[in-house]
Amino acid sequence: MAYKNHEQGLAYGRKYYQDHREHKLAVEKIYAEKHEEEMRAYRQQWNADNCERRAVTCKEWEVKHPGHAAMRCSKWRRTPSGITYVRRAARKRRAERRTRCFLDMKAFDAKCEQLGWRCQICGKELTRETATVDHIVPCKYGGTNEIDNLQPLCMKCNCKKGAKSMKEMLGSAFLFE
Ligand SMILES: [Zn+2]
Repeated sequence: MAYKNHEQGLAYGRKYYQDHREHKLAVEKIYAEKHEEEMRAYRQQWNADNCERRAVTCKEWEVKHPGHAAMRCSKWRRTPSGITYVRRAARKRRAERRTRCFLDMKAFDAKCEQLGWRCQICGKELTRETATVDHIVPCKYGGTNEIDNLQPLCMKCNCKKGAKSMKEMLGSAFLFE
């Protein structure tokens, strides 16, 4: 097919792409699935063969998009198990926290009632608003959310206790301040 001018050709190409986008993507996807190994090997080979070219292209891109590269880098962190993508790590942490930290507040209220609404360290009187949930055995030592492992503390004591066990806490000097 001959076009009067370049522009017209481009416009036709764009329209064709838009009209057949779904189909093209589906075809590409099937091809990619069928040739996964092959394509990966090809990419690896290409990257190895063109590492200098890639470095130049990356540098150019970074110059053209200042700030972008830094933002991208900031999403990666060096961790003991290698470099991880921060958002993925954060999502994993959140999921862990969700399963780990489901608290039965009804049971906790009942326990406060039973303990006379008092901070279990300093004995200060508490209300539903001022009582904070403390893990007697901290999560980091394998403590659970079972009611037996929870106790009410005032905010001040809870902050000072942090992730310490009661034994560590009572052994620390703050009680004698
Ligand atoms: Zn207290």
